[in-house]
Amino acid sequence: MKIGVLALQGAVQEHINAIKACGAEAVIVKRVEHLDGLDGIVLPGGESTAMRKLLDHVGLLEPLKEKIENGLPAFGTCAGMILLSKEIANDDTVHLGVMDMVAERNAYGRQVDSFEINIPIKGVCEDYPAVFIRAPFIRSVSGDAEVIAEHDGNIVAVRQNHMLAASFHPELTNDYRFMNYFVEMVKEKSANLSM
Ligand code: GLN
Repeated sequence: MKIGVLALQGAVQEHINAIKACGAEAVIVKRVEHLDGLDGIVLPGGESTAMRKLLDHVGLLEPLKEKIENGLPAFGTCAGMILLSKEIANDDTVHLGVMDMVAERNAYGRQVDSFEINIPIKGVCEDYPAVFIRAPFIRSVSGDAEVIAEHDGNIVAVRQNHMLAASFHPELTNDYRFMNYFVEMVKEKSANLSM
């Protein structure tokens, strides 16, 4: 399994480590040609507007969107979740716009910049240590997007077929159960393709 990490900005190395810890190969994605041969891609946390500028600059926005629309498994964390959303409640822009959900940026407000809390994630575990940093949450989902985690009544993780998104940062703890869930999604997808 070869999983790419979008490496234009943000928490890249931590994701590389988490992917490797789950037994998959991790590669850095900075240019269009790096998308070749990937079985999955992780879109890290960071700053979504900065990431968008860089995606445009290197010409990755459309090719990446197309790959994901054509079935490349994708996992967006925090800013990555914003990139995947079809709508951003407090922003006019749409970035990759592939998941049926409405994100709200910096949804926890500046006074609660970051926090960690154990939450249940459907299909993963009952007590995942979720690290939130200037995190977005999801206001609503539609279509076949499924809510897999909530915190305080807000949606904080969503799965839609081969796509996964979380408000929090699974790469910032040594608990790899959530990354492992994504690696399993990638394996399932490539098993289906080779059948
Ligand atoms: N607040 C950031 C944004 O809007 C996301 C924060 C993060 O990825 N830790 O893009």
